[in-house]
Formats: sequence, C-alpha cells, structure tokens
Amino acid sequence: MLVYLDNAATTQVCPQAARAALEVMTEEFGNPSSRYAWGGRAAARLREDRQTVADTLGCAPEELFFTSCGTEGDNWAVRGAVRYNRHKGKHIVTTAIEHAAVLEPIRELEEQGYEVTRLRPDRTGHIDPEELSAALRPDTVLVSVMLVNNELGTIQPVKAAAEAIRRTQCPALLHTDAVQGFLKVPFTPRGLGADLVTISGHKVRAPKGIGALYIKKERISKWKPLLPGGGQEGGLRSGTEPTAQIAALAAACRAWGGEKAIRHIADVKEYALERLRAQVEGLRVISAGDAPHICAVSLPGYPSEMLVRDLSDRGICVSSGSACHRGKPSHVFAALGLSKQELMGVLRVSFGPDSTRRDAEALADALAEIQKNRIAVR
Ligand code: PLP
Repeated sequence: MLVYLDNAATTQVCPQAARAALEVMTEEFGNPSSRYAWGGRAAARLREDRQTVADTLGCAPEELFFTSCGTEGDNWAVRGAVRYNRHKGKHIVTTAIEHAAVLEPIRELEEQGYEVTRLRPDRTGHIDPEELSAALRPDTVLVSVMLVNNELGTIQPVKAAAEAIRRTQCPALLHTDAVQGFLKVPFTPRGLGADLVTISGHKVRAPKGIGALYIKKERISKWKPLLPGGGQEGGLRSGTEPTAQIAALAAACRAWGGEKAIRHIADVKEYALERLRAQVEGLRVISAGDAPHICAVSLPGYPSEMLVRDLSDRGICVSSGSACHRGKPSHVFAALGLSKQELMGVLRVSFGPDSTRRDAEALADALAEIQKNRIAVR
C-alpha cells in the first residue's frame, strides 16, 4: 500500500485529467493554428479549456499564458518585470523563502547589477508586511512574494504588498508565485492586486509539463515575448500549444472539488498533526501551515534523510524537504532560526484530495515505531 503524503512535490493525475489528455492526444489532436475545420475544432477546445482555467483562477482568458511549468512562469515573470520597468530603476524586493524558481533568476539579475532586498520571515515563517512596505523605494521595479510557502504552508502578505506599492507609488510590478496556493487558498489576481501570478498544473492533479502565467491586462501591451515565433499565446509565448496538457489542466480544475476538497484536506492535516503529537515523543510542529495542505514537523535528533528512508521502506512518502538539500538545511528552515537538532529532523508532510485519515494514522504509527528502533543523535 502506498501512503502518498508529498502532494506539495507533485500529485497523482486525476482520472478526469488523464481522460481529457488521452482524448485530445488520440481524437481531438489537431493543431489549433491549422486553417481547416479539424484545426478549428482544436482551437475551439483550446478556447474552452483556457476559459475554464481562467475562470478557476479568476481572470480573463486573455490574461492567461500557458507555460511548461511553474519554474518557467516564475522566470518569465521576474525577467519580464525588470525588462518592463527597465528605465525606472534597479531595485528588487523579494523574500528569503521564495522557491528557487524565483530566487535564482533574481540572483542572476543581482549579478547584472540589480540591488536586491530579501526579506526574512519571523519565527513562524511569515513576512512582516510593515518591513515589506519599508523596503520599497522609488527605484523598486519588482516585488516578488509567494502566496503560499512550499515548505511551511504559510500564507504571505501579497495583498499588503500591493497596497504598499500603491501607497508609496513606486513603479514596481507585483509578482506572486501561487504554485502552492492555486486551488488550495481562495484568491483572485485582482483581489490580491498582483500584476503577475504563476501557477503549475502538477500540484493540482494535472500532469507535469503545464503551468500558466497570469499577466494583468493593463500590462500586456508593453510585455515582451518569452518565445518569439509563430505568435501563439497572444504572440508572447510562441510554440504549438500543448493541447493535451492544457485539456488535462482544465479537467483537473473542474474536478478539484472546491471548498469541500479544501475542507477535507485541512481536516486530514489537522488529524495527522493530532496523531503525530500524541504518538511521537518530542515531535515539534514547526509550522501547522495556514494553507490546508502543508505542514512541517521535526523529530529533533533524528536526521530527516534517515526518517524519509525508513518511512519509504514502509511505503510512506513524505519529504525531507527541499528540507535537506545535499546535506545542507533548506534556506527556508534555516531562515526560521531553528536549533541544529530541530533543523536536522525536519519533515514536510503535504496532503491532497485523495488523502485519508488512514494515511495520517499510518504516518504517526510508522514514525512512532521508527523512533523506538533508532537512537537519536545528540
Ligand atoms: N514555486 C513553488 C512554490 C513550488 O512549490 C514549485 C514546485 O515545487 C515551483 C515554483 C516550481 O514549479 P514546477 O515544478 O511546475 O516548475
């Protein structure tokens, strides 16, 4: 039996998405740009699927640009925003707990002469909106703040960032990486006040290889193409559309289950934390997560790589995170100021619509057993 509790890493494709992809690959396989009726059918299907994803995100279909993944959307947003504002300044505000898909392109820009302010979270994993506001300057051209942190599940103050940008009248475009927020926490790009929003399909039961970048309508005319070519995606990202993946993403959006799914996921997570606290001695909840699907715990003194392996031997999948990358603790947990022992034993557990209370019990039972069999490192 597989107990899959790593839904922040990726998700199992839901049957509706798999069926939609198969249908488009084998039946409605035309190229949406072809002039004959068969191409027209593919174009109509693409329009319909784009509308579904746009409705789910809460934007106009013209504001949605399909990408190959969240990483592409983040890279495009970061590079595109500084290009958009290239005559306005060279200062970027972001956080120390962004995904590498945001941190790395920003680091590249830093090497090219941009000045970067990286806000650090407090001990609970939240960015202080006042610090964010105070970091803005007349030459700030980009603010990039994720909606939900992928290792802690904490929700970050994106709306407050938008308000601060408006208040200080700095020229910054606001980007939010909503890869972990999409379908998990209710938001719309306009409600947040964001100019740019990244999402990714494989976190919400669509296949890998599909994502999207929302670009606010008012920003599109000055936005530069990522891939010049045949003119697909409003001329901003050419390349024949991956119609099967897009159909699958639309189907996954339709099948998600709205508030009921969110309540279910939150309920299983709460139950898991309850069981873990009750059964695993000394377990620390590092973050219970504001988002329904992610939490981080630590078993101080037990190296997380070992825990992940021992759990894996019992058919249970959780993440040491991006928690321990090549022996180094992740930048996110390092930013929280945890003790060495706590840092060593961090696990990220993340849930999805298919997770059950039984999965939570299996995890707590297994961790309690591992704890009994292994000796803590002091
Ligand atoms: N941003 C966040 C917050 C993520 O969690 C991830 C994936 O883990 C990404 C970006 C990258 O998304 P993708 O795997 O689709 O490139």
